[in-house]
Amino acid sequence: MSSETADAAVYLDRLDRVRATMEAESVDTLLISVGHDLPYLTGYTAMPLERLTMLVVPREGDATMVIPGLERARVVEQPGVFDIVPWGETDDPTAIVARLAAGSKRIAVGDQMWARFLVELLPHLRDVEYTRSVDVVGPLRMRKDRAEIDALAAAGAAVDTIAGELQRGEIPLVGRTEADVSAHIGRRIIEEGHQKVNFAIVAAGENAASPHHHAGDRVIRKNEIVLCDFGGTMNGYCSDTTRCFFTGEIASDVAEAYAVLHEAQAAAVRAATVGTPCQDVDRAARSIIAEAGFGDYFIHRTGHGIGLEEHEDPYIVEGNERPLEAGHAFSVEPGIYVPGKWGMRLEDIVVATESGPVPVNNSDHSLVAV
Ligand code: ZN
Ligand code: ZN
Ligand code: ZN
Repeated sequence: MSSETADAAVYLDRLDRVRATMEAESVDTLLISVGHDLPYLTGYTAMPLERLTMLVVPREGDATMVIPGLERARVVEQPGVFDIVPWGETDDPTAIVARLAAGSKRIAVGDQMWARFLVELLPHLRDVEYTRSVDVVGPLRMRKDRAEIDALAAAGAAVDTIAGELQRGEIPLVGRTEADVSAHIGRRIIEEGHQKVNFAIVAAGENAASPHHHAGDRVIRKNEIVLCDFGGTMNGYCSDTTRCFFTGEIASDVAEAYAVLHEAQAAAVRAATVGTPCQDVDRAARSIIAEAGFGDYFIHRTGHGIGLEEHEDPYIVEGNERPLEAGHAFSVEPGIYVPGKWGMRLEDIVVATESGPVPVNNSDHSLVAV
């Protein structure tokens, strides 16, 4: 993971900024276990074990990583960033964490910490107010730095290559099952440099009307739409793009709807300038789709933040008044889904910058006949 290859200065800087937010939020201790905040702050990705791993960050003083002894060898030390306290199989790791957090009045807890760790900790730490770590780490994670944006762009370029292959017919569709094409895309995701495939949705014809359709044994036929939405994790950062294809001469109702979708997606990308509330980006896409009469068929938010996780803050959704900041990275992916007939979606990852929105996905946006 690139987060593991970053040097200690990167993590020290992130921890400094976390501590400033802890100060502002009156958080005495931050507890981070499995999940994505841990690699963000330390470079270490914990296996999702029942054995406790816990980064304990006091507002003042050194951070400590409490870790199962047998995992010790996997931790890359970051001098000055955190101390390591390995625990043995007969130790009580909860007591170690409780000791490190003793005296705290307000503790922020990672969203993805196992409930069992927190439940076991509660009797040790009484009269404590608990809050979610997303209030402390989330705003920092949303603002991607240069290295993170570069990682998102590299992952985006890799999936664009695959989109191009689909558009040129180099990954054939007709006569194959959705599952077969999905497996093919998955292999290409790895070959293009990702370590992990996160998903490869392939939905043909009426199946495309279900936004998260699970690729199955439906055979792709001639003269229908095929929606492909795929992404993986490359050096710690995620890719995610959607393109649609038509296996033959494009039907006129589909072409008309796609023109609306294309216009809506482009308008939302253009709207994604620094300072614009997230909900206004959603509205930019939604108003165009609604004006064309497809409003009832656009059944999800316009997008989600992306980074170490496929879906993270900020969400591009009505009600989210958070203004976009430079470094926010998120999907812009409106869709139109007509049940029983067809569906379509067009998705790019976009980074908000001081000089305007910058898409990291740049494959052809048209509905390509293959
Ligand atoms: Zn997607
Ligand atoms: Zn997405
Ligand atoms: Zn376009």
